[in-house]
Amino acid sequence: MKTIVVGAGISGLSTAWQLAKKGVEVFLLEQGPIPNPLSASGDQHRIIRRAYGGKSGYQRRMSDAFDAWDELWGDLGERHLVETGFLLLSQKAGDEADEYRQGLIDGGFALEDMSPQETADRFAFVDPSALRWGAYSPEGGVLLSLKIAAGIKAWLIAKGADVRENCRVASVDASSGSVTLESGDVLSADRVVVTAGAWVLKLFPDLSDELTTYRTAVAYLTPPPDLLGAWKNGPAILDVGGEVDGYVLPPVAGTGLKVGSGLTKYVSADPEADREPKDGEGLTIRNYFSPPFARIEEYQVERVATCAYTFTKDQHFLVRECGKTVVVSACSGHGYKFGAVVGRRIAGGILDGDLEAARIWIEARD
Ligand SMILES: Cc1cc2nc3c(=O)[nH]c(=O)nc-3n(C[C@H](O)[C@H](O)[C@H](O)COP(=O)(O)OP(=O)(O)OC[C@H]3O[C@@H](n4cnc5c(N)ncnc54)[C@H](O)[C@@H]3O)c2cc1C
Repeated sequence: MKTIVVGAGISGLSTAWQLAKKGVEVFLLEQGPIPNPLSASGDQHRIIRRAYGGKSGYQRRMSDAFDAWDELWGDLGERHLVETGFLLLSQKAGDEADEYRQGLIDGGFALEDMSPQETADRFAFVDPSALRWGAYSPEGGVLLSLKIAAGIKAWLIAKGADVRENCRVASVDASSGSVTLESGDVLSADRVVVTAGAWVLKLFPDLSDELTTYRTAVAYLTPPPDLLGAWKNGPAILDVGGEVDGYVLPPVAGTGLKVGSGLTKYVSADPEADREPKDGEGLTIRNYFSPPFARIEEYQVERVATCAYTFTKDQHFLVRECGKTVVVSACSGHGYKFGAVVGRRIAGGILDGDLEAARIWIEARD
């Protein structure tokens, strides 16, 4: 069997990995370098955690997600997950931290509750006067996305997969299973998997009823010197509470301290538009984090990274089969942690002829 995978973010890389592992001839086509800094998977790190608040289907699938990463570490001979655990900080009753904490309790997962002062005593960057409570879960941490992409790419090449960088697919003929490259060359296969992230609507504009493309940005910060140690040993922060939908990745394994907020995102049909950070954007993002962090004005903005991703209306993922082609959009701001298992499910669906089962699992509405 021969399969073409369009797009080498984490969904495409993982699908290619699983297919090549099972003896399928794989062509992986990526319009930029691997990893592509413009892709959603092309930033330094991503959070993995069990808490899922309202989306309990994904929370129930997290053990499979961890298991698929373990399989990948085994194949790569290296573990690209730093188990920092993760922190929830609540500032107001009913904020997202409250919702995530309840999800962990309902799922029976490990959780350490802390008063505001206990939280600040343990994590020196927190201002206790801003908090209702803190809660720490040991089950989660930081996935090192750049190392994962480099590792899978090397593994695929060693296995004989045809990995093509700077190779943009101009169009896909879904029913015949062929793709036309920007160069004009045509490639055909038994199956085509399209994992094109925020670019998917350029290839499949009909999906615009279901998918919306957003542009967002994150800021990399240098903390004041006396807080650097606390951050280096700190957890990922899934939610800082209040209304900013804010999260933080600690500076582990050579990465930077990164902060991001849901308030930063806006609809942008072209994933390559506005990719230069705007004046003052980094300071705006940084300042969302006070409260709950103390001394925010002492944090220097090192750089701003922009990003494009797609969302469905209910933030579940999307799988659509059409002829010999399957389109996979595992994004909506929380798809990286499922990258390895999405690859496992899509490859399994192709090989056992049951992509509908893969769709139900990946869309996680049950
Ligand atoms: C700011 C931000 C923070 C996030 N934080 C988290 C987090 O903490 N935890 C988490 O689990 N998830 C998180 N996510 C979501 C996660 O990053 C995405 O769900 C995931 O990376 C999507 O991977 P993908 O492979 O589907 O898409 P992408 O990573 O976007 O990959 C698509 C690839 O396809 C290529 N491509 C597109 N069109 C073509 C073409 N025509 N020809 C060839 N190649 C093409 C692109 O260049 C790109 O490399 C976050 C997302 C953002 C934007």
